[in-house]
Amino acid sequence: MFGNSWKDRVEGFIDKPDECLPPASAKPGERKSPQRVLHVDMDAFFAALEENKNPHLRGKPIVVGGSPTGRGVVSTASYATRQFGIHSGMSAAEALRLCPHAVFVGSELQQYTYVSAELINIYHTFSPKVETTSVDEAFLDITGCGHLFGSEEGLGQALKNTIHEKLGLTCSVGIASTKVMAKLASSVFKPDGLTVLDRQGIEQFVYPLPVDKLWGIGPATLKVLEEMGIHTIEDLATFPLEKLQQRFGKCGYALGKIARGEEDSAVLGAHELPLDKSMSHERTLSRDVADPDIQKATLHYLSDKVARRMRRHKYEGRTITLKLRWADFTTITRAISFSHYTDDTMFIYKIVRGIWISAVRGTHKKVRLLGVAVSHLRHTTTQPQLGLFDARAGRKFKPTDPTVDQLRNKFGESVILRAYSHLGGE
Ligand SMILES: [Mg+2]
Repeated sequence: MFGNSWKDRVEGFIDKPDECLPPASAKPGERKSPQRVLHVDMDAFFAALEENKNPHLRGKPIVVGGSPTGRGVVSTASYATRQFGIHSGMSAAEALRLCPHAVFVGSELQQYTYVSAELINIYHTFSPKVETTSVDEAFLDITGCGHLFGSEEGLGQALKNTIHEKLGLTCSVGIASTKVMAKLASSVFKPDGLTVLDRQGIEQFVYPLPVDKLWGIGPATLKVLEEMGIHTIEDLATFPLEKLQQRFGKCGYALGKIARGEEDSAVLGAHELPLDKSMSHERTLSRDVADPDIQKATLHYLSDKVARRMRRHKYEGRTITLKLRWADFTTITRAISFSHYTDDTMFIYKIVRGIWISAVRGTHKKVRLLGVAVSHLRHTTTQPQLGLFDARAGRKFKPTDPTVDQLRNKFGESVILRAYSHLGGE
């Protein structure tokens, strides 16, 4: 199975420009049979990429993110900086205060996206179902795949080895029967960890952990749980489900199931992302095309159409998907998720272009169809975004979108096309 990518399913990609949010065709997140889930989390991803690029930085305290003199945010802190209390999401100014000798490096969106897309390509050689949850984390549905490598541990080790050989990066892997337990397992031994949890493992290793180690339990829920005398995961797992339901409503039942390692949320491949929360456009090219410039222009045109529609309907999203159909009709669908939301044309285009470069590199195949989708949508907030790349991607391009939108509202869609788009436009 090594080196042989699974063929991707192609259903689930929509293009209905007039419909803002099409109805869901299936209930996402429900699964029929028991699954085994692998969670992979790259170790200090951006910092590791910077170290690979500049070996003299290796071992030094590196902070990747915005500038410490502005409103920049830390996107990754290398392990050498974590001992100073620096973590992702904190302001870069605070990080500088905690560790004045830290080396600050700006985020390289294009490079990170490209490596992220390369990782997704590797994941697809291990499982047909890959769900990215951030630029450096993903779930793989490995149900029934373990025996191909002797065991699930063998599969996890093979994945780690492949990533290290191809990209020179280490990651931590957790394998369990649910997404939450797999994510927990990957976080137990970091960096470079590999943890497989069976039923016994959950009871031995997971149950004694504090309850807020579970993904999704925030400070507000934690406070209520503690008032109820629930402090460890075992406390929550053994608490009567009815009582949790009385206290938290529907979520109470889910909370109990999560703690028991029994929640039934399925790994969703890029082609299965909920249709009621996505917007997309795709285009069959007038002839099959190998020319990269035409493909890039088409991707820009499609990114612009999607972003424009999102802004018009006041949505922003955090998962960006490329669909690519080769001339022989085989199709790949690849998505990258971010922790922050965007409706920015250039940001979406840059991500899609990164995924595309990784998909077409080394091939001379002609392309028949291209598609761009943004999913995990929410209504646009008025709060300023302090996401990983906003300081960089947003600063340069953000002011353009409202201006272009205003012109188009007044004079029609074709009044202005972005320079990159002209080849892909009508
Ligand atoms: Mg990570």
